[in-house]
Amino acid sequence: MTTPPSLRAIAAADDYDPNSMPVDQARAHIRAFLTPVTTVERLHIRDALGRILAEDVVSTIDVPAHDNSGMDGYAMRHADLQPDADVTLRVVGTSFAGRPYTGPVNAGEAVRIFTGAVVPPDCDTVIMQERAKAADGNVTLGTGAKAGQNVRKAGEDLKTGAVVFHKGQRVRAAELGMLASIGVIEVSVYRRLRVALFSTGDELVQLGGTPGPGQIFDSNRYTMYGMLADLGCEVIDMGVVRDRPEDVEAAFAAAAAAADVVMTSGGVSVGDADYVKQMLDRLGEVLFWKIAMKPGRPLAFGRIDGAHFFGLPGNPVAVMVTFYQFVRDALFVLMGRTDVTPVPMFKVPLAAPIRKAPGRTEFQRGILSRGADGALSVVTTGDQGSGILSSMSRANCFIVLPTDQGNVDVGTLVDVQPMDGVI
Ligand code: AMP
Ligand code: MG
Repeated sequence: MTTPPSLRAIAAADDYDPNSMPVDQARAHIRAFLTPVTTVERLHIRDALGRILAEDVVSTIDVPAHDNSGMDGYAMRHADLQPDADVTLRVVGTSFAGRPYTGPVNAGEAVRIFTGAVVPPDCDTVIMQERAKAADGNVTLGTGAKAGQNVRKAGEDLKTGAVVFHKGQRVRAAELGMLASIGVIEVSVYRRLRVALFSTGDELVQLGGTPGPGQIFDSNRYTMYGMLADLGCEVIDMGVVRDRPEDVEAAFAAAAAAADVVMTSGGVSVGDADYVKQMLDRLGEVLFWKIAMKPGRPLAFGRIDGAHFFGLPGNPVAVMVTFYQFVRDALFVLMGRTDVTPVPMFKVPLAAPIRKAPGRTEFQRGILSRGADGALSVVTTGDQGSGILSSMSRANCFIVLPTDQGNVDVGTLVDVQPMDGVI
């Protein structure tokens, strides 16, 4: 293990303002201080779904292995066709998928062929059966066929020796299929990232309990579990921790010892007791930021006893927004992924006005839909309070409004980040 760089360098920078940290700057700071997992395991490809490859994968075969037909029809030499007249060729055999025709195909001859069947070496072109008339062991073919048409060339998908996937790439369904297509049974992947989480708050009641006056069920721990499990993390749920110094300290120590990453909700905002900050300074190195964003202002980031630490806000929507805007990509990097790119955004006209004060980047929850005319537009889910968790459930996108943006009128193009595939 290399020694991780110190976070103190960030805090020493001239433009460092923990009380008004721009979103992009926070992302960059986090990105610079991540130490990815290095332990590797070999898994059957099926078990590697969602994992990150720890090696390049090189193909030992051509895919497809042979020139083969893209259609049911007839294979022949293009030179035997006429540009301006029908031609009748003698059908000398049949090439089935998995059962090639092995004889010669001479001038004036053709082979009946089916989709996926090997195109005989003497042939270079396939004409679909709808354009062919077969009778008495012959086939009559019309004009207009291009040389090589309907022939899938050997190696056109993957060539022998080609790097099919790179180390650091995530294995999805398409990758599983491609691995199988080149005969790979096992791959080396990084071990799963272990994330220990707990929520803090005297007001929280565990499921199964009965909330007393002023108490609420702990929902954040379930939201956090869901977000982490979706990414493929191994989640260690450490329950609810009371706002008591001894309890919080013990929880942080146990979490850091058990996991690569510690993630918490609540307890890191300005109003929270200073003892948390002092304690974390003792246990490790943690920065407390107020991010210039809405929702989700407070975010603590650093290291506790060698584990990475993300202290998320307490408000239920802020937990999710902060996770998706900062933690998700960081976790991918920690998992060993090298192709992490920001979630794509695209511009869509607003179908109902939005009120916004300049000063913070807002991640409003939006509903993107297609009108009768087929055009996309977006509206917010309504009340954007940071406790309205139903806004996250109803939304299918974030509407991202830049820092300096004020109120937004109907028809204005706004940046939209789809949640599907992200969340
Ligand atoms: P805090 O950041 O701890 O001050 O919490 C801010 C708000 O989020 C308060 O209204 C809390 O009651 C609420 N909250 C904190 N933790 C949770 C949780 N685990 N589940 C649901 N709501 C929470
Ligand atoms: Mg709290």
